[in-house]
Amino acid sequence: MADLKTGWIDQEIASLKEQGLFTSIRTLSSPQGAWLVVDGKRALNFSSNNYLGLANHPRLVEAASAAMGRYGVGPAAVRTIAGTMDLHLELEKRLAAFKGVEAAITFQSGFSANLATIPALVGQGDVIFSDELNHASIIDGCRLSRAKIMRFGHGNPNDLRQQIAATTEYRRRLIITDGVFSMDGDIAPLPALCEIADVHNILLMVDDAHGEGVLGKGGRGIVDHFNLHGKVDIEIGTMSKAFGVVGGIVAGKQAVVDWLRQRGRPFLFSSAMTVPDVAACLAAVDLLEESSELVDRLWSNAEYFKQHMNELGFDTGHTETPIVPVMLGEAPLAQQFSKRLFEEGVFAMAIGFPTVPYGKARVRVMNSATHSQDDLDQALGIFAKVGRELGVIQ
Ligand SMILES: *Cc1c(COP(=O)(O)O)cnc(C)c1O
Repeated sequence: MADLKTGWIDQEIASLKEQGLFTSIRTLSSPQGAWLVVDGKRALNFSSNNYLGLANHPRLVEAASAAMGRYGVGPAAVRTIAGTMDLHLELEKRLAAFKGVEAAITFQSGFSANLATIPALVGQGDVIFSDELNHASIIDGCRLSRAKIMRFGHGNPNDLRQQIAATTEYRRRLIITDGVFSMDGDIAPLPALCEIADVHNILLMVDDAHGEGVLGKGGRGIVDHFNLHGKVDIEIGTMSKAFGVVGGIVAGKQAVVDWLRQRGRPFLFSSAMTVPDVAACLAAVDLLEESSELVDRLWSNAEYFKQHMNELGFDTGHTETPIVPVMLGEAPLAQQFSKRLFEEGVFAMAIGFPTVPYGKARVRVMNSATHSQDDLDQALGIFAKVGRELGVIQ
């Protein structure tokens, strides 16, 4: 007999499966890297956000082990109650210096950094101008704040100007955008947004999750990429992508960081990053400050891959970053494409509605510094084979 309380969940799940929208999660039995063991099968990895190969980098692993030997594993409570380890403070200082800002504060994840920051800055009576394609964690942070949310057209400063002009009743205002949009790989028009924020005296926040460790000098992020130091009020970042670990960052003015230590709810009511996470992130900053070699390789790999895909006749959209969408159109084709890639030994995910609009389904290729020339050539051969087989290219 159906469970009276949870029977509806069974029905919802059955309905997702019928529509082909049920997400099944593949099992990895290897570390992250150029090659993975996925569901028991060796495959070339083009799915993860491990842009620089730091998720399994010996320097990070060593730093994490050494720190655990000294500090143990967990922080054992929130920082305001149990005290904060010097390790966390050191990471925050190093991140601020790396990014060239006054101060930084860490969170458990990029997601919780957004949930902490947005409601701490705006509330009822305030207004947020949010790019329509912003990440789910920004959307949730905006909703939590109870400020009025005005969505502006994706990457469209003119629409933003109009929305600002049309909004007259407010106490405080905040403009929020993703730095790099993860489905298309395009970059926010930050210089224009900055100018608008300046003219109207509006707080400006950018979530640089996919730009941290990728954009800018040696991976210093989108603000460095556009040389806008000191002009963006709040930078959100993550250490869960290029940094290869897990954790969130808020970087910017000292006042903002001080305020988040007082009013950021995930800071006050959720435990800090773990010891190995913090130590590994410190090692990641060391590596990035020592050399831009990994960042350079990431970009040259991505350039090589994109150029050869275009020569083969694939449509790679309008990406400006190592994220390369292979545009396929309808969702079933993208699913079939991804499935055939996997059978041939390439792990790259199909993405369809509702993550991207109808008719814009794609296989998203995440490039990484870990791929060798050989890996890339092998992958390109497989893309060509599957593309011809499915009639995507000639
Ligand atoms: C991935 C992502 C996040 C979440 O980061 P986590 O550290 O994985 O929680 C937040 N914002 C954006 C724009 C992202 O792409």
